[in-house]
Amino acid sequence: MGYWESRSAAATDLWISPEFAAFYEFDTVDGFIPIATVRERYLPESRKLLQAHYATCWAEGRPYAVQTKLRRPDGSVLDCVVHGEAEFDPSGQVRRVSGIVRDVTEETTALRRLAESEQRLADFVSTASDWCWESDAAHRLLPYPKSLAGNAAFQSVAAGGRARWELSYAPEDTDAMARHRADMEAHRPFRNFTYTLIGTDGSRVSICTSGKPIFADDGSFLGYRGTSSDITQLRAAKALLDQRTRALEEAHQLGKIGTWSYRLNAGRTIWSPELYQLLGFDPDTFQPSYANIRPYFLGSDADRFRDVQNRVLRSRRTEATDLRMLHADGTARDLAVICKAEIVHDKVIGIIGTVQDVTERKDAERQLEQLAYSDPLTGLANRALFTRQLAALIDGCAVDGRGGALLLIDLDRFKEVNDSLGHAAGDKLLIQVSAALRQELGTRTFIARLGGDEFAVLAEDYGMSDAALTGLADRLIAKLSVPVDLAEGEACVGATIGIARLPEHGATAETAVRNADLALYMAKEAGRGRAKLFEPVYAQAVDQRLDLSRHLRHAVETGALQAHYQPQMDLRTGRVTGFEALLRWTHPERGPISPTEFIPIAESSGLIVDLGLWVLREACRQGRAWLDAGLPPRSVSVNVSPAQIWNVDFETAVSAVLAETGFPAELLCLELTESLFVDHTEQRISRTLTALSGLGARLALDDFGSGYSSLGYLTRLPFDCLKVDRAFVDGISTAPEKRKLLGGIIALSHGLGMTVVAEGAELPAELDVLGGLDCDVVQGFVFSPPVAADQAPLVAASIEREAWRIQPRRKRV
Ligand code: C2E
Ligand code: CA
Ligand code: CA
Repeated sequence: MGYWESRSAAATDLWISPEFAAFYEFDTVDGFIPIATVRERYLPESRKLLQAHYATCWAEGRPYAVQTKLRRPDGSVLDCVVHGEAEFDPSGQVRRVSGIVRDVTEETTALRRLAESEQRLADFVSTASDWCWESDAAHRLLPYPKSLAGNAAFQSVAAGGRARWELSYAPEDTDAMARHRADMEAHRPFRNFTYTLIGTDGSRVSICTSGKPIFADDGSFLGYRGTSSDITQLRAAKALLDQRTRALEEAHQLGKIGTWSYRLNAGRTIWSPELYQLLGFDPDTFQPSYANIRPYFLGSDADRFRDVQNRVLRSRRTEATDLRMLHADGTARDLAVICKAEIVHDKVIGIIGTVQDVTERKDAERQLEQLAYSDPLTGLANRALFTRQLAALIDGCAVDGRGGALLLIDLDRFKEVNDSLGHAAGDKLLIQVSAALRQELGTRTFIARLGGDEFAVLAEDYGMSDAALTGLADRLIAKLSVPVDLAEGEACVGATIGIARLPEHGATAETAVRNADLALYMAKEAGRGRAKLFEPVYAQAVDQRLDLSRHLRHAVETGALQAHYQPQMDLRTGRVTGFEALLRWTHPERGPISPTEFIPIAESSGLIVDLGLWVLREACRQGRAWLDAGLPPRSVSVNVSPAQIWNVDFETAVSAVLAETGFPAELLCLELTESLFVDHTEQRISRTLTALSGLGARLALDDFGSGYSSLGYLTRLPFDCLKVDRAFVDGISTAPEKRKLLGGIIALSHGLGMTVVAEGAELPAELDVLGGLDCDVVQGFVFSPPVAADQAPLVAASIEREAWRIQPRRKRV
C-alpha cells in the first residue's frame, strides 16, 4: 500500500510515500514525482479513468476508488485500486487531494481462480451423468445450486424436500431402502446404494448413490453430502447381458456345448463348467492340462488336436474338427470342436474353443451308414461300401506299399437252385455261402455281396505269391462246392473266381473291378468252378471287343451288313422249303468277321436289338421280294437273341415288320436257343412264345444238343420245329450210339408234332442216315453254304434238280 498527495489542482508533481515509490519502482525527488511519469505507467484505459476522477475530485470534491492496471518497469502488470479524496479548507474549497494505492493483484487472481474453479465444477457436474446432493439433519434432500444441479431426475427429487425413503420407489427396493434408512439414521457413510424411482407417469429411473455424513465442529450432525448417478441404461444393458448370458448357458447345456480357453502366457487351459459336466470331470479335482487329458483321446486324436491348435495359432484361422474322446465314465464320445485364435491388439494371446457332444448324431449317422452300407440278407457289406473300401485299399497300397487282392466270386448254378427249390431256398443258400466265406476268411477280411450271387473279397496285405492267391481262391471254391442241405432240398452250387492283384491290376477301384471281372469271365470261359488271376492280355481282348463293338454300331447305323441265306431241303420231297438268314459283316480293316464273334458283342452291348430288327426286316423284305418274283413260297428263318425278346416289346416289333413288308407270317420262322430260358420263369417264357406263335409265325428251338437239351421244354412250349445241332449230326454215319439217340429225339419230336431240321450235314453219308432216321429237313454244306440273296434262288433250283440222286438212297434205308 502506498500513499499519495497532490497539493494543487495545477500541480505537475505528486508526493508519494516511500512504500509507493519502492513498490512501483518510481524514482522520486524528496518524495516528489511528476504526475505525467506516474500516469505513463497506467494502462491507457486506466489512465483516462484516473485522470477523469482526479479532475472531478479537485473540481467537485467527489471521492473515488478505481480499479486500474499499472505496468512495472519489468513489464509485469499489477492490479491496483487507486483511491482519492478531497480535503477542504474552511471555505469549502478543495485544498488538497490525497489517497492510497493498493496492490490487489493477489486478491483478484484468487477471486478469478475461484470463479474459474466454480465454473469448472459446474461444467463437470452438468456434463456428467452423476450429480451432487445434500440432505439436512432431518435427511430432507436439499435443492442444490443450479450450477451443480445436474440431472433432471434429481432436481425433481430434491425439489420435494423429502427424505429418500419418502420418495416413490419401486416395491422390490423396500427391504434395501429400509436398510439404507437405518444407515443414514445411524449417520453411517454408504456407497453405491441403488434404487429405482417411479415417476408419476410410471417411468422408472434407476439411481446409484453414495454419501457421507457431515458434522459441525462441535460434532453435531448437519446432514449428508453425496453423489448420485442415473444407472437406468446401465442396468438395462446389464439385465440384457445377464439374460443373454443365461440364454447362452442354457443353450450350451441343451446343445451339450462347453467352452475352453488356452492362454499362451499362462500356458494353462481353462474349462467352462459346462465342459466339465459334458466330459464328466469334477472341476474341483480335475486339472485340464494337456498331460491329464491326453489319455482320454481315442486313436491318434490327441496328436491331431494338438496339430489343429498349432495351426490355429500360426494361421490365426478358425478351424473345426471332430474328435473322439472318453467320458470320465469310460464311454466314447464324439465331439465337434471349434478352435479360434484369440487376438488382442493384433497379437495372438491364446486359443478359445467350443466343444459340442455330437455322439447321438454320430451314432445315428453310423446306424444310417450301417443300413446304407450293408446287405440286409447276409449282413455282409454291400456294393456301395465295397467300392469305398476298395478305393481305400488302393490308396493305402499307394501310401505304404502294401499289397492286396480283389477276388470276385460268382456262384455257379445258383439260378438252378432258385428255379428248382424256390427263392426262399436261394436266400438261405446265400446266407450259408456268406457264412462259409466268413468262416474261411476270418472276421478281419472284408467281404461284400455285390448283388445276386456275386461276392467280393478284399484280401489285404497277404504278401502272397500268385500261387498262394490262387490257392486261397481254390480253398474258397472247394468250400462253396460242398452240397448244402436246405429244408427245400439239397443245393449243390460251385463258384468261379476272378482275381486282380492290387495295386498292379488296378490303379483305381474301377479298373481293379474291371480286371477282376475279366479274370472271372475268362475263368467261366475256361469252364467254371475255377479261379483265374488277371493277365494283361485279357484287357487287350476287351479292347478289341470295344473296338469291334464301335465298328459294329457304325455298320448297323450305315447298313453295312448283309444277310446270307442257307437253303433247307425237305428230305422227303427233295424241295428247298426255306432259307435261314445268317448275318454277314465285313470289317473295314479285318475283313469278314464271323457272327459267332460279333453276335456276343452285340448282345453284351445291347446293339443286338437294332441288329436283330434289321435282320428280321431284311429277311422279310427279301422273302416278299422272292414271292413277288414268282418263286415258290419258301420259309425264311431268322435267329433271335434272348436280349431282343426281353428288352423290347418283341411281339409288336415282329407284327409291325410283317405288316410293313407284307411277308406272310406263316412263312416266317423264329429261331430261339435254350439261352432264352436262363433267368426267366417258364411261365413268362411260355406267355411270350405263345404270343409270338399267335402272330402266325413258326418257332424253332435252335442248337438242340449243344446245351442243356432239356426235353421238358419241348413238351411244354409251343415250338413247331427242332433244329438239331451240328454237334449231333457230325459223325453220325460212323457212331451208332449217336444215331440211336438222334433217332429217339426225332421220334419224340414227331410225337409232339414238331418238324426236325438237322443242321450242319456235310457228307452225303450223313444224309443217308438222317433220311433213314426219318429226319424231315436238312441244312448244311452238303447242299450249300449260306449265299448272298441274289444267289439263293439259283442255288435252291440247282439243289432241287439234284434231289433225285438222294431220293433213291432214302428209299433204300
Ligand atoms: P446257327 O444259328 O446255328 O447257324 C448255323 C451256323 O452253322 C451258321 O454259321 C452256318 O454257316 C453254319 N453251318 C451251316 N451248315 C454247316 C455245315 O455243314 N458245317 C459247318 N461247319 N457249319 C455249317 P454262321 O453263319 O457262322 O453263324 C453262326 C451263328 O451266329 C449262328 O448259328 C447264329 O447263332 C448266329 N447268327 C448268325 N446270324 C444271326 C442273326 O442274324 N441273329 C442272331 N441272333 N444270331 C445270328
Ligand atoms: Ca440258327
Ligand atoms: Ca443252329
